[in-house]
Amino acid sequence: MLSRNNLSVTEHDKEMLQIVHSVSIHLPMSPERKLLFRKETNNDETLSLLCKYYHEGWPEENKVPADCQPYYKLRNSIYFQSGFAFLEDKIIVPKNLRSDVVKLIHEGHIGIGKCLNRSRKLFYWPKMSQEIYQYVMQCHTCEKFRSRNCHEPLLPHKIPKLRFSKIGADILEFAKKPYLVVVDYFSHWLELIPLPDKSAKSVISGFIEIFSRFGFPVEIVSDNNPFNSKECLDYFKSKDICLTTSSPHYPRSNGMAEKAVDISKNILKKAAEDSVDYREYVMSYNNAPLAGMVVSPSQILNSRTMRTLVPITEKALEPVVIKNIHKLLILKQSINKSKFDRSVRKKEVKFNIGDEVVYRTGKDEYWKKGKIVKKCKEPRSYWVERDGSFPIRRTTNHLKKSFSNTKQFKTSYYNDDSRATEDNTTLNSDPMISSPARVSPPRDVVYDNNYCTRSGRVVKPPNRLDL
Ligand SMILES: [Zn+2]
Repeated sequence: MLSRNNLSVTEHDKEMLQIVHSVSIHLPMSPERKLLFRKETNNDETLSLLCKYYHEGWPEENKVPADCQPYYKLRNSIYFQSGFAFLEDKIIVPKNLRSDVVKLIHEGHIGIGKCLNRSRKLFYWPKMSQEIYQYVMQCHTCEKFRSRNCHEPLLPHKIPKLRFSKIGADILEFAKKPYLVVVDYFSHWLELIPLPDKSAKSVISGFIEIFSRFGFPVEIVSDNNPFNSKECLDYFKSKDICLTTSSPHYPRSNGMAEKAVDISKNILKKAAEDSVDYREYVMSYNNAPLAGMVVSPSQILNSRTMRTLVPITEKALEPVVIKNIHKLLILKQSINKSKFDRSVRKKEVKFNIGDEVVYRTGKDEYWKKGKIVKKCKEPRSYWVERDGSFPIRRTTNHLKKSFSNTKQFKTSYYNDDSRATEDNTTLNSDPMISSPARVSPPRDVVYDNNYCTRSGRVVKPPNRLDL
């Protein structure tokens, strides 16, 4: 048996031990949760063996039990400190706590790409990515409010130079209550303010609440009503704000706010479905990295990460000004536009008899569960059997494969007759920043966005433990 103590301790090891030590000390977890992690790490058979190997040295590969095999190649990056197991600076989650951690990662129904992104920064266990992928794909709430099948090519907007200088605004109605939706064109920070009514006075009051937190913007992009009413215009003028209204012939010019409306509606629907205060899901949105990026609206706008229930280091909660973000946002926009436009021209989707699906029409406000029972003569058309009802015919445009194991979603108790949602698999997504293209099932990748040392070791700095 090779003893670790006999192996030379490299500079990298020393550095990692220091990092792991400080991570374990500064984990802003409640004492109860720390205790639970320690207890479960100690009770976990595989982790106990790893701990033994860590202190006494690893046996030959063929003598390593099956459960420990996935860790063999990573053995030089595994550390035990203060009762926690680490892979580099990521916590190795004991088996009994994995499902809880997956739930926390998906809190607020954050989209799959973002869930994978944030989990890979913080945690490790074999097949973690697959487990998270499966959990999110099987989430009833997410499936019910998944995106529609049709997408138009994107019209990218101009990204402003400063944070909260240009904002999009719109009003949405949910469960017969109006809300003011405001989104920052730079950081994508979302504000969702309930209004007593849709009058100019109430809208101005909503704006004042938001401006009290972020200051006056230079420009507001919105639809016409009630934003271009005399009362609103007078208010904007008095605060040196210019209003750009979208043309009726070119409604997509307010695409950013429209997208924010879709995201907000999904937040409201999912919060109602889960009986959660919607403001918690707004927080999750603002705190989750933008799709395809490592930074969240909160990090971009406020230079800090908000503390949530997901374990995070104290260091990651310290303020950091994200530099060069303007260039990054422009780059991301062009990449995502081409990705998105490619996905619009995607191939025809085919179904087999017996396939579990979800279906909807243009009028439906969410997806419903069904099963393919017959293929029609006509192209792209199928008969769908519904739970206890006569089969109905649907085209592939209104069909998607189903992954959740529920028989039927519960009927919504709210009455939402306004525009249907466009997106939900990527709750935090934006057409300009993220690609709504289907996410492929991931291979379990241990190292993402890391760098290699001259000796070839993969290193991840501790301040990447952000959420
Ligand atoms: Zn979900």
